[in-house]
Amino acid sequence: MPNVLFEVDLTKPWTEQPVPGHNRWHPDIPPVASVKPGAVFRIECQEWTDGQIRNDDSANDVRDVDLTRNHVLSGPIAVEGAEPGDLLIVDILDLGPFPQGTKTPHLSPTTEWGYTGIFAKINGGGFLTDHFPDPHKAIWDLQGTTYAQSRHIPDVRYVGIPHPGLIGCAPSHELLAEWNRREAELISTNPTRVPPLALPPLETNAVLGTLKGPEYERAAKEAARTIPPREHGGNCDIKNLTRGSRCYFPVYVPGAKLSMGDLHFSQGDGEISFCGAIEMAGWIDLHVDLVKGGMAKYGITNPIFRTSPLEPRYTTYLVFEGISVDESGKQYYLDAHVAYRRACLNAIEYLKKFGYTGEQAYIILGSAPVEGRISGIVDIPNACCTIYLPTEIFQRNILPEEPPTAPTTGQLARAS
Ligand code: ZN
Repeated sequence: MPNVLFEVDLTKPWTEQPVPGHNRWHPDIPPVASVKPGAVFRIECQEWTDGQIRNDDSANDVRDVDLTRNHVLSGPIAVEGAEPGDLLIVDILDLGPFPQGTKTPHLSPTTEWGYTGIFAKINGGGFLTDHFPDPHKAIWDLQGTTYAQSRHIPDVRYVGIPHPGLIGCAPSHELLAEWNRREAELISTNPTRVPPLALPPLETNAVLGTLKGPEYERAAKEAARTIPPREHGGNCDIKNLTRGSRCYFPVYVPGAKLSMGDLHFSQGDGEISFCGAIEMAGWIDLHVDLVKGGMAKYGITNPIFRTSPLEPRYTTYLVFEGISVDESGKQYYLDAHVAYRRACLNAIEYLKKFGYTGEQAYIILGSAPVEGRISGIVDIPNACCTIYLPTEIFQRNILPEEPPTAPTTGQLARAS
């Protein structure tokens, strides 16, 4: 097992960890460890809400989740010799949930587990929040680092595609200022919207490593929230950044300051219910190296990555199409957001004929290794987006040929 550079205590909140991580982005957060190029090491991660979600049959925890505490991130790790303008090579060597009983005996004595949430429209929202405004939750049993199945969703079992939902290097002061400028400008166009258009810096519950006193207070006022993906990567939620992939991250500060978290056992493209992946606490093994001056040399301003030969080998998909015409019949111009939403809604309506609730179908699309594509983006006025549902994840026939059969048992956890 590689050297563990960052350990978590799952019995304690992020503010009380022996070595504090962070939950905002800021260039001044001190590194927790330093490695040489070529190093291989292990990082432990808490799940993204800092342990607020429980393995039970109520969604009250999802309803009441405090979203000022996320994402809890492990790091930053400094890489010796890294300078702004370099590329940081990060090989995702392996990752998974903590082995049974080693880290979570108080939470789940019998098995590894993860969860998928539909967040309330008034507290987080999601891609289809106007259709599914109420909180729901599914608990997944994780079998090895391979299979997932849920007591809350019948007749579905699949091979996951584990990945860090969130990983990237610290921004420079200049880049951070640019994020804050442009996101504030967007928020100002509709500051009272629910859910909000973006999240400005927030001092409440900000954890910034070992920063203290006036340094902490100054940084907390300007540190960026972790929800959006940005030029450094961050919360990209790309399922294919799985074990065996190699990522190239732009470096903006000396030492690069790599951080990560929000481990997912599995996820569909788009992570559509917002907390739509199978969220888990766990470990990730990494190898790092440098490409000196790689940003200018290769014209790279956002991360790029090479995919992995290790991915689930599903071969048959049922594909649902959507076009840029909204639910009221209004025509949009080549709008991929509307088109992907309609594709997802079409898939959900279909799965309801097989006895799933709309919310169960929503969670299946968010968490299973589902492919999402922009199939056409030039044929005015309609974009065509498609969602590819692997038929093999269902333990019965879901083709539109036989009379649809209802599933056996199982309901999502709801709020009381
Ligand atoms: Zn996540």
